[in-house]
Amino acid sequence: MNFVPVRVFFEKDALEFERGRKMHEFFISKGIAVKFLESHNRVTGIPGKTPQESYAEGKKTLVVGVRKTLDFSPCKPSAHYQLPLATSCAGKCEYCYLNTQLGSKPYLRVYVNIQEILDKAKKYIEERNELTLFEASATSDPIPVEPYTGALRDAIDFFGNQPLGKLRFVTKFTEVDDLLNLDHKGNTTVRFSVNTDRIIKKYEHQTPILDKRLEAAAKIYNSNYPLGFIIAPIFIYEGWQKDYEEMLFKIKSELGDQKKGNLSFEVISHRFTKRAKESILKVFPKSDLPMDEEERKFKFGYNRYCCAHVDNQDAT
Ligand code: SF4
Repeated sequence: MNFVPVRVFFEKDALEFERGRKMHEFFISKGIAVKFLESHNRVTGIPGKTPQESYAEGKKTLVVGVRKTLDFSPCKPSAHYQLPLATSCAGKCEYCYLNTQLGSKPYLRVYVNIQEILDKAKKYIEERNELTLFEASATSDPIPVEPYTGALRDAIDFFGNQPLGKLRFVTKFTEVDDLLNLDHKGNTTVRFSVNTDRIIKKYEHQTPILDKRLEAAAKIYNSNYPLGFIIAPIFIYEGWQKDYEEMLFKIKSELGDQKKGNLSFEVISHRFTKRAKESILKVFPKSDLPMDEEERKFKFGYNRYCCAHVDNQDAT
């Protein structure tokens, strides 16, 4: 499940960085259409006439830029700051929090000035002078673009040398091999977002199947990273107990009996905003996601509907 963009837009300044030049060379060598932009914030040239086409074409587009704003957004309650390494994601989950955040063409965006971003993280840690947590998946799933950027690799190395800094990210993707031999010193927590096979097949389009996610999680666990599972969003349907129980047994069997260290679980229910419901139905008009406000009020007593990811301040 490798993300291969159909088109890549480079901000001109990106080629002033070695990471940018390498990516440019790579995409050219693969025959992928490469164009230049004046600014990564003004992206034109992504086709798409209907909301569905625009969404699909956006998800095939990669923008490579220089991160100008080095002020990090807060990331309550899961961390102190967002670590801005990437935006958007190759997956097409119907309930993705990003569906309401990224406009009609949710292209993937990565940055080449990772060192400047990490230098800024260091400043934040020094200013606080106490344990400071950074979340690298607040606006993306950072794994699909990692083979191109190496940004997480650098961030994990960096946090391995920060006694007062910790990193966390969450993914549904599996390209973790380049992260396995890093000297992370337990300072990076990797979480996998999982669900039952039925829910993945139905709603999490273009993402790896559960078994592949668990194989990747086992690799991370065996490399002694703190590991987490986010079971989200959990759905109640006929047979849900059996399916979720099977999923938990699969996790157990994939990780083996040997207790290696830090392992955590979070369970999040499906909630949604009115705006999220409207955006979801524009792109997935036939979606059968349970989004009946009256039923929700009746069943759960909510009068505010949130996508599963909002509470957690991460995207995937
Ligand atoms: Fe990507 Fe996660 Fe959003 Fe799915 S929910 S599209 S994996 S960021």
